[in-house]
Amino acid sequence: PLPRKGTGTLDNLPKDLKKEIEHLERLFTVDGAKLKEITDHFVNELEKGLSVQGGSIPMNPTWVMSFPDGNETGTYLALDMGGTNLRVCQVTLTETKSEFDIIQSKYRMPEELKTGDAEELWEYIADCLMQFIETHHGDPTKLDKLPLGFTFSYPATQNYIDEGILQRWTKGFDIAGVEGHNVVPMFEAALQRRGVPIKLTALINDTTGTLIASAYTDPKMRIGCIFGTGCNAAYMENCGSIPKLAHMNLPPDMPMAINCEWGAFDNEHKVLPRTPYDVIIDKDSPRPGQQSFEKMVAGLYLGEIFRLVLVDLHDNQEIKIFAGQDIAKLRKAYSLDSSFLSAIEEDPFENLSETADLFQSKLGLKPTAPELELIRRTAELIGTRAARLSACGVAAISKKKGYKECHVGADGSVFNKYPNFKARGAQALREILDWPEKADPKEDDPIEILAAEDGSGVGAALIAALTMQRIKQGNM
Ligand code: BGC
Ligand code: MG
Repeated sequence: PLPRKGTGTLDNLPKDLKKEIEHLERLFTVDGAKLKEITDHFVNELEKGLSVQGGSIPMNPTWVMSFPDGNETGTYLALDMGGTNLRVCQVTLTETKSEFDIIQSKYRMPEELKTGDAEELWEYIADCLMQFIETHHGDPTKLDKLPLGFTFSYPATQNYIDEGILQRWTKGFDIAGVEGHNVVPMFEAALQRRGVPIKLTALINDTTGTLIASAYTDPKMRIGCIFGTGCNAAYMENCGSIPKLAHMNLPPDMPMAINCEWGAFDNEHKVLPRTPYDVIIDKDSPRPGQQSFEKMVAGLYLGEIFRLVLVDLHDNQEIKIFAGQDIAKLRKAYSLDSSFLSAIEEDPFENLSETADLFQSKLGLKPTAPELELIRRTAELIGTRAARLSACGVAAISKKKGYKECHVGADGSVFNKYPNFKARGAQALREILDWPEKADPKEDDPIEILAAEDGSGVGAALIAALTMQRIKQGNM
C-alpha cells in the first residue's frame, strides 16, 4: 500500500469507529488477484464488443484510420462539448513537425441544459460558436472553408466520420429526443438558423482525440484515456480483428480507431465488486443499469459515493457519525464533487484541520477528531478503488493488443487533479501485469500512463486534417 500522507495511525480510534473503518476497507479494497480477474473478464468483453452479436462494451468504430505523422498542416476549428465547459478552438497545425498554435474560448455549460430540451442545447452551442467567430475571427468569409472537428463525448454509432447516432446519454445528461438520432444534422440546422458559416468535417470522441493528439507528439502512444467526469478509452485496432465490420471488406491490416465506451463494462454485474453504495448510485441515476464501470470510477460519482457512505454512517450504522447534528446539507444528492474528495486527500495536517474547515464551511458539520480520521480513510478508499479499477481497463487493452511496452495518454480532471491517482494506477498496473521489481526506482514502467495532449482541441483538429487527407486520396 502507498504511504498515507496526512494522518498517522488509526490504532487509537474508538473501537466501534475502527470496526466501521475495517468494514469499509473490506467493501472498497480490490486486491491484486481481483484486479487480475477483472482484467481477464475485461479482455473478453472488449472482444465481444467487436463481434457481430456484440456485448455490453460498445467498441465503436470511429473511422479514424491512421495515426498522424507530425507533418499535418492547416487551420481547423474544434468544438468540445464537455460536461462542465463548452470550448471552441481554432487550431493551426504548423509547418514545424508536431507543433501547433491554438486560440480558444471557454463557455460555461449551464446545468439546466443537461436535462433540458435538445433545441436549446444546439442553439446554445451555435451561439457560442457565433460568439467565438465574432471575438476571434477577422474574416468570416474565410470561415466556411475551415473544417470543424466536433468532440461529442458520448457513445455514438458512426457509419461515417461525420455522423454520430447517440446511443445513450451518459454523465448525468438526459435530453429527450436525441438518443437514437444522428446529432450532426441537429447541430448543423442550429448553425444554419444562426447563420454560422461552418460545416462539420468529423465527429469525434474525446478519447479518440486524446489518442491522436498524444500520438502526434509521442510515437509510443497506443491508448487514449479520459479519467474525468466520465471514464473511457480509445485505441487503434486492425480492421481484420473487427468481425462486426467484416461485411465492409476493408483490408485486414487497415487501422481503425475504436472508441471502447468502457464505462459500460460489466453492466451485467459479473465481476466488479459493487458495494451497496454503488447500487444506490445506479438506481437513482437517469440511466439505471448503464455505465456500471463508469459509476465506480469516474469523477461525477466519486463525491456521491462518499456522500452516501457518510449519510449511511449517520443514519443506519451503530456509530452514528455527526450525532446530534443537522445533516440536511449532506443529504443533498450530488452536493459533493470529486474536488471535495481531492481536498480531503490533500489535507497535509496531522490534525486534518483543513478537512474540518471544509465540513464546517460546506456542510455546516463539526466532525470529531476520530470522525475526521474515518472521513480521510473513506476518501482514500474511494479514490484508491477508482484508480485501481481504472487500471484494469488499460491493462485489458494492453493484453488484448499484446502491448508489452507503450505509452498511454490520459486526460481529465481525475487524472490531472486527484491526489495519488497516477501512482495508485501505476501500482495497480504493476500488480496486474506482474512486472519484475525495478532495479532503479527511477526507471520507467513498461506501460506508462502519461498526461495527454489536448485531445478535444488539437486531437479534433488533427482528425479533421486526417479526414480531409483521406477524402483527397479518394478513400471513403
Ligand atoms: C462517455 C464517453 C466519454 C467519457 C469521458 C463517458 O461518459 O460515454 O464517450 O469518452 O465519458 O468523457
Ligand atoms: Mg473533455
